[in-house]
Amino acid sequence: MRDEDTATLFNRSAAESSRKTVADRALPASVRRIVIVGGGTAGWMTALTFARSLADRGTEITVVESPSVGIIGVGEGSTPWLRGFFDSLDIEEAEWMPACHATYKCGITFDRWSTKPGFERYFHPFASMLDNLTMTQFVHNVDARVNGADVPAHPDRFFIAARLARGNLAPKPAEHFPFDIWHGYHFDSVLLGQFLHGKALQRGVRYKTAHVTHANLDERGAIASVSTREGEVVEADIFVDCSGFAGLLIDQALHTPFISFRDNLFNDAAIAIPTPCGATVPAETVATAMRHGWAWKIPLTHRNGNGYVFSTQFCSPDEAERELREHLGLLDSDTPARHLKMKVGRVTRHWNQNCLAVGLSQGFIEPLEATALLFVQQTAATFVEYLERGDLSETAHEQFNARINAHFEGTRDYIVTHYKTNSRTDTEYWRTNAANKQLSDPLKQLLSLWMSGKGIAGAVRQQVLGRGYPVFSWYSIMAGMGIFPDRDALRPPQGKEGRYRLAEIDDLLHRSAGNYRDHGEVLKNIPPRRKAESLQAYFW
Ligand SMILES: Cc1cc2nc3c(=O)[nH]c(=O)nc-3n(C[C@H](O)[C@H](O)[C@H](O)COP(=O)(O)OP(=O)(O)OC[C@H]3O[C@@H](n4cnc5c(N)ncnc54)[C@H](O)[C@@H]3O)c2cc1C
Repeated sequence: MRDEDTATLFNRSAAESSRKTVADRALPASVRRIVIVGGGTAGWMTALTFARSLADRGTEITVVESPSVGIIGVGEGSTPWLRGFFDSLDIEEAEWMPACHATYKCGITFDRWSTKPGFERYFHPFASMLDNLTMTQFVHNVDARVNGADVPAHPDRFFIAARLARGNLAPKPAEHFPFDIWHGYHFDSVLLGQFLHGKALQRGVRYKTAHVTHANLDERGAIASVSTREGEVVEADIFVDCSGFAGLLIDQALHTPFISFRDNLFNDAAIAIPTPCGATVPAETVATAMRHGWAWKIPLTHRNGNGYVFSTQFCSPDEAERELREHLGLLDSDTPARHLKMKVGRVTRHWNQNCLAVGLSQGFIEPLEATALLFVQQTAATFVEYLERGDLSETAHEQFNARINAHFEGTRDYIVTHYKTNSRTDTEYWRTNAANKQLSDPLKQLLSLWMSGKGIAGAVRQQVLGRGYPVFSWYSIMAGMGIFPDRDALRPPQGKEGRYRLAEIDDLLHRSAGNYRDHGEVLKNIPPRRKAESLQAYFW
């Protein structure tokens, strides 16, 4: 197993771009003013990413936000790559996490997605250096089990992050223990937006409260300016659409075609209800399968965020709210529920003319793996690369869009796999998902390679199949859902199939976990960032 297997291909490039030194590269003279329409998380993350590399060079960056349209106000879990975002901006966890009631996230537990005995629940971990000690054993055992050998292959037995989550431990090693654990975060999305807003203003970004009514196009069809309800006409060289699902510029002004993912991702609505939190602070998101979708539970320091993502093709919002309230023990409670619609899919061109779409305006894959902010990060950082190169050519547009689209498609395939491999039969929703044949060709090939027992590591690594997610994630999902021969068809391991002893792996993980402290305690006194360049190098 190579080191790269622990990182997603998608993100490795984001990380690399954030480490580049750029001061000596020329910006195109045509880019002096950038206007970002929208002040949600996408707007402020983009503003900070741009400011980091462009503000010192005289580019004026302005965020225009409507006083009457609110932000979406959900989106409270991240991938580990958000850590790279804050690192690149030199913002310490000890500063931003308490301000956003944030907690650490070691991964996601998927509960009740599978009915296969022993596989009703599994944990999708974020990778760590320590996993390099057990990854070979995991992949070996999974491959053996796919081929019928009765060996342990549940992912929870092989990864340190699963141990930490189970023990409510923070992914922050003791000072003497040099093994960094990759982790994501949970945070209050409104507070995160406010925090980023404040930081962006400190770093020279301008802010205007105004409601954009429409965009004015020039003779080439590019955006020349936007008009506001307050009577202003705001001009810029580049416009960034961070207006959320409205897609004010990319869709309403430029009519960029949109590709819906509704054929294989059925969920199109969500309900959010907060609940009080308990004394212990979990270090994981829990995604529990429900009758017509799944419910999230995200622990923050002052409350739990909960919600139900479901499909209105299969149940009404009222039915879904009732089911969520029942799940949360809130049937008789008057805690208000927020109902949201979701538009799932992506635009064909995220960079169209002089308009870049970032955030919900560019597309959205439902939040099962909490990947949306990663797209924000990736899209903004990649665009800065092109600006720094001074390349705004048509070819640059094409390359950029192909790259972002590939990330969307690869991530979509991974999310679809959660549904496709489910073994529930209790509702039409789950049966239709399992029977769905509308899969991308790479995903079809990956699933058939798995079923043939040939192993998928090589094909995933070469990005032929399984685009966007690393080998261990694919092995985790397929093994975690129990996609193996039935238990009564298993045979005793032969030859080297049974070479690894689970007791040794257990012992290793147990001893390693001893170096990590209680999550709640760590959050009371968040340690400074380790100067972790050398540690991070292991992943990238
Ligand atoms: C149910 C659900 C759960 C989610 N969970 C996650 C998760 O766990 N992790 C994750 O990464 N992401 C998640 N997301 C996605 C995440 O919420 C968004 O990606 C993120 O909040 C960024 O949103 P945004 O900034 O693009 O849009 P918004 O938050 O909608 O912001 C839009 C902005 O545009 C402005 N605006 C709109 N119209 C105008 C106008 N006419 N003039 C001027 N300004 C205007 C608004 O004022 C606002 O500031 C989730 C989304 C949903 C629906």
